[in-house]
Amino acid sequence: MKQKIFNLVPPAFVAVIVAFWAFAPKALTDNGWSIIVTSALITLVVLGLEFVHERHAGWRMNWREFFTDLFYVVLSATVISWTATALAEEPLQAVKTSLGITTQWAMHMPWLLQVALVVFIMEFGQYWMHRLMHNSTPFWLTHAPHHHITQLNAAKGAVGNPIELFLISLSVLALFDLSPTALFCGFNILNVVSTFAHANVRSDPPLFYSFFFTTIRHHSLHHSTDYESTRCNYGNSLILLDRIFGTYKEGEASVVGQDDLRRLSIREQFLFPFQPLIERIRAGRGETAQPAN
Ligand SMILES: [Zn+2]
Ligand SMILES: [Zn+2]
Repeated sequence: MKQKIFNLVPPAFVAVIVAFWAFAPKALTDNGWSIIVTSALITLVVLGLEFVHERHAGWRMNWREFFTDLFYVVLSATVISWTATALAEEPLQAVKTSLGITTQWAMHMPWLLQVALVVFIMEFGQYWMHRLMHNSTPFWLTHAPHHHITQLNAAKGAVGNPIELFLISLSVLALFDLSPTALFCGFNILNVVSTFAHANVRSDPPLFYSFFFTTIRHHSLHHSTDYESTRCNYGNSLILLDRIFGTYKEGEASVVGQDDLRRLSIREQFLFPFQPLIERIRAGRGETAQPAN
């Protein structure tokens, strides 16, 4: 019985989010703080569920993991978000204005369709960026720190090298004129789905959810311990895209990480993409030092 209820928690959560943005008083939905509070609540509630019905004892939260996750959640909500706004979103909006592009048709679509459009546009970009990261070495070097995490938890989706976090946040959403509540609802849905897809919660939602949305089964398989096995299930929230583009794989993993399953520190996660360069400089120094000796 408990298991059956837990299997329905992710779809119920999505329904609550949609109901909130559709029916909550305007004073709440118009308040800029609402999206910040709802995003934080999503992470906290799912983290709480990890203690009620955990998936693997080996993924149990501890203080070291908690503070690392918290560091990245704050980094994503501040520096990464500001950088993406300044370097991508605002320039894109400026181009849109200067070229006189209008997408008022989007604003006039039914509200739920606007929400679906937000989810699709965000995920379509993320899918191809993520797939590129698994197929090109320079991009993989930015993404590999996310795959070096050795356990999955509610906020682990936020953990990764800052360059990767910036790249994965890029989207063309700024080109579309959409209702702000549809935007916020779409962001919250993506947040709920990707949070559950990384969480240590024993919840396996039914097919009406898992056909479209990514679950922990799909995403844990993506976190498999050898590089080749990670090259599937790229959809952060919309696994439907993997089904469409032929990268879907059925299965689940309980041991996650890369290479020797060594956990990286925050410093190592930040330096990871530059490691080949650092090693080359060190080797270069070694060569020039040798004749002197
Ligand atoms: Zn990946
Ligand atoms: Zn992940």
